[in-house]
Amino acid sequence: GLAEKLQNTFKNLRGKGKLNESDVKSAMREVKLALLEADVNFKIVKDFIKKVNERAIGQEVLNSLTPGQQVIKIVNEELTELMGQTQSKIDFSANPTILMMVGLQGAGKTTTSGKLGNILKKKGKNPLLVACDVYRPAAIKQLEVVGKSLDIPVFSMGDKLSPVDIAKAALKHAVKNNNDLIIIDTAGRLHIDDNLMVELEDIKSSVKPSEILLVVDSMTGQDAVNVAEVFNERLGIDGLILTKLDGDTRGGAALSVRAVTGKPIKFACVGEKLTDIEEFHPDRMASRILGMGDVLTLIEKAQESFDEDKVKKLERKMKSNDFDLEDFLDQLQQMKKMGPLSDILGMLPGMNNKALKNIEVDDKEFLRLEAIIQSMTPKERKNTNVINSNRKKRIASGSGTKVQDVNKLLKQFSQTKKMMKQFTGMEKKMKKGGKLK
Ligand code: GDP
Ligand code: MG
Repeated sequence: GLAEKLQNTFKNLRGKGKLNESDVKSAMREVKLALLEADVNFKIVKDFIKKVNERAIGQEVLNSLTPGQQVIKIVNEELTELMGQTQSKIDFSANPTILMMVGLQGAGKTTTSGKLGNILKKKGKNPLLVACDVYRPAAIKQLEVVGKSLDIPVFSMGDKLSPVDIAKAALKHAVKNNNDLIIIDTAGRLHIDDNLMVELEDIKSSVKPSEILLVVDSMTGQDAVNVAEVFNERLGIDGLILTKLDGDTRGGAALSVRAVTGKPIKFACVGEKLTDIEEFHPDRMASRILGMGDVLTLIEKAQESFDEDKVKKLERKMKSNDFDLEDFLDQLQQMKKMGPLSDILGMLPGMNNKALKNIEVDDKEFLRLEAIIQSMTPKERKNTNVINSNRKKRIASGSGTKVQDVNKLLKQFSQTKKMMKQFTGMEKKMKKGGKLK
């Protein structure tokens, strides 16, 4: 896979420091091939490589990563960003919410209408499926079967009326029956076709759907780009649903359709069963496209040991007894990432849990502590002994706190420091006895 190739590219590169141009270039050749192999559109690959290059060259290599891993980390982050960063939800502000499913024939519209109705029903919606594919009699029957097996009502009027009339009637029916969610299953064609587009435009203008969701078969690869582009131009889609991600496709189409339309991928379908649908996670898709799940785990581990480095640094500070409020603040600021200070100190040998209880801080208190330290002068942060009552008043008003809060912080800090002293003393004694290391 790509991961191995990248590791090989960097085999001889054990050096740290900054990523240079030639490191990045050789890595990018592999990334480019992997993306093309995964069926990502060529133009999108080109833009992507350019962007990663710009970001990667000159970047610091994390201590615990190899240059290859560092590049993979950047590639993965950029890919996730391109794929849409966060999960996208459906806009339920309208009642009833009307979702219009569009796409080529065989993309999975009918199946996905059912799947979507089902998971939204589980979230408390009362859905109505609407059969607007009047060209294939089997299509109406198909939706009815799907609805029946999921216990979701299906609105159909046979194949004699126009899809626009059926959709309008369905809307009335939904309002009468308290269906707060309408999912319209429309017809498709094997290829983009003007008649189909006109029909879909008519449905759109007559029922004004809350969202038009384009269902895309992820096995279609390059073709998906063209399809997504045309549907988006003609209808102005609101989101994408990718189907058949259970096949051996790498999912390059996902990246392409997202990039050409700029519209979010909302759901992913991963099988024929009516439960085979999930909310779309850009980060997972990025890993899948690059086929680098293992490498990401590796990078996560490296990140952990990067945090361990910080703990070691803190340990050194403790030993030399020059832990000051500046370090205390630094620790507080890392708290969200690394867990509470007590946890960090708890990682050190010789720390006992009861003593740690006294220095525990919660989120709100954290903000207060941060504000207080930030209102101190550098001199005060280095040496708390200079903080007299006048200075305390100034710090309290500067940080929007009370003098008691400042006192509390100073007490917490001195307790921490005292503990550190005890720990250092203890360790020295043990060292003398030759018991440590
Ligand atoms: P439509 O023409 O767009 O309405 O597509 P259908 O809903 O009829 O689906 C076409 C075929 O694709 C059916 O055989 C479905 O069972 C199948 N299908 C749909 N979604 C998926 C999926 O996520 N995975 C797999 N393996 N098959 C799917
Ligand atoms: Mg269908």
